[in-house]
Amino acid sequence: MTSKLTLVVATSNKGKLRELSSIFSELPIDIVPLADVVPSAPTVVEDGVTFEQNARKKGAFAAGLTMMLTLADDSGLEVDALGGRPGVRSARFAGEHATDAENNAALLDALSELDEESRTARFRCVLSLHDPWAAPGDGPIVASGCCEGRIAREGRGGGGFGYDPLFLVSEKGLRAMAELSDAEKNEVSHRGRAAKALLPQLSRLVTERLLDVERISRRRPSLLDR
Ligand code: IMP
Repeated sequence: MTSKLTLVVATSNKGKLRELSSIFSELPIDIVPLADVVPSAPTVVEDGVTFEQNARKKGAFAAGLTMMLTLADDSGLEVDALGGRPGVRSARFAGEHATDAENNAALLDALSELDEESRTARFRCVLSLHDPWAAPGDGPIVASGCCEGRIAREGRGGGGFGYDPLFLVSEKGLRAMAELSDAEKNEVSHRGRAAKALLPQLSRLVTERLLDVERISRRRPSLLDR
């Protein structure tokens, strides 16, 4: 059987790519960012009001461009005291092209008056898997995950990306997400959980597609002979 299938990931976020590659490392897939397949791909406007809407939009767009099996991740931080913000605007909390450091500073600022009990938050992730060769009418396969915690008063740790230095993970004794090893983060993170929920269906699709490729390549000589 052909050894590996390419899975396009509709993101340019290196942190997401690294984590998804590690979580799906047992599957016979090469994970590549959309820009490696279509360097001129325009950026999708993330104007959905839910993570799922944005994930579906990014995934459908990238799958339509590449006609390859495509995964999209939309994720972010929901802070209870901010009514669930920054939510779908997590990447842009401090402004349209804000850096992680600017977003973290803005978050600390917004929560500066709050005591420990009021600093509860969660990371949420929605993954959307798009198969351009699925039967007409079949939508993407969608899975979600979340991770509960609190927002620290200052950043800690050097791992992860985004808000990880400020996010204290409840299940890890309030260690910062950025203090966890990659494996520890994937075990409890929103992305790790969404990916695990998706794994059986992704695995089935990858096997089916690899068998299709194998069947087509076995038939090719006889087709050429005609
Ligand atoms: P998206 O590209 O619109 O999904 O934006 C995701 C944003 O949410 C990132 O830029 C981060 O600010 C934040 N985020 C999502 N997942 C994580 C994570 O695992 N750790 C830290 N921040 C995250």
